[in-house]
Amino acid sequence: MNNCIFCKIANKEIPADVVGEDVEFLVFKDINPKAPIHLIIIPKVHLGPVSALGGENKNLLGGLILKAKEAAANIGVSDSGYRLVFNVGRDAGMEIEHLHLHLLAGKPLPF
Ligand code: AMP
Ligand code: ZN
Repeated sequence: MNNCIFCKIANKEIPADVVGEDVEFLVFKDINPKAPIHLIIIPKVHLGPVSALGGENKNLLGGLILKAKEAAANIGVSDSGYRLVFNVGRDAGMEIEHLHLHLLAGKPLPF
């Protein structure tokens, strides 16, 4: 997926404000934050959105959610709370095909 912006971030071909990284996942600040804290958690390997995944991806999907939980703890919002969001498809406003989880926090979130 050589045209994928999140692959390029994962490969360090374009910069991002990275706040967490391990072998499998990368956590960085959303460039256009919709809340005081808005992080994006991605697998480094290119996977499509949730709608494209199957049982073979369940370990990675579980790991992605646990990585978001870890990121929430690291930024100190475990107690105050946060929202984890997968946008899937057009009606959700999904822009980027590379699997990613949004972490929103830092104030009481509407809706
Ligand atoms: P989605 O609508 O779920 O596909 O969300 C894609 C998100 O990626 C949006 O919130 C964008 O603001 C964010 N985004 C796009 N390009 C970048 C980038 N280069 N660095 C960080 N976040 C980005
Ligand atoms: Zn990708």
